[in-house]
Amino acid sequence: MKQCPVCGALHGDEQAQCACGADLTRQQPLPPPAQAAPPVQMGSLPPVPPFAGRPFVPSPPRPAFVPKTYTWADVLTVLGFTAALTGYFRAGILLLPLGLVASLAGFWGNKQRGLAVAGVVISAVGLLLEIMSILEKNCLLPYWLTDGVFFL
Ligand SMILES: [Zn+2]
Repeated sequence: MKQCPVCGALHGDEQAQCACGADLTRQQPLPPPAQAAPPVQMGSLPPVPPFAGRPFVPSPPRPAFVPKTYTWADVLTVLGFTAALTGYFRAGILLLPLGLVASLAGFWGNKQRGLAVAGVVISAVGLLLEIMSILEKNCLLPYWLTDGVFFL
């Protein structure tokens, strides 16, 4: 920037003559304004110093008590156990295999495996009885396999 020595008007550095007629060629360029902001490109924000206006706050300590979260294994274990029990009374041919599969899936990812083991055993025994019963009712098993000790 150059300032006209006569009228004080501001001109660009390339300007050779002021509108008032004064010669600007020997005028020294003005220093850039001290408060000028750095050029900001379109679409970019000026750099922000880190944590400006956001003082570091330490996160509160975790509570010692962690609430129990239920995983899919827990859900499958309960589902398998319930299905296995229900299968003894209703729709065993559907619920017993479901209970067996769900209990096995729950057994794989469960830490409390007692219920899963119970579900596997109950559904496996029930499924075996169910299959035996179906085969026997349809006379698909020989008598020496289906008869017990007392030949009932
Ligand atoms: Zn001038």
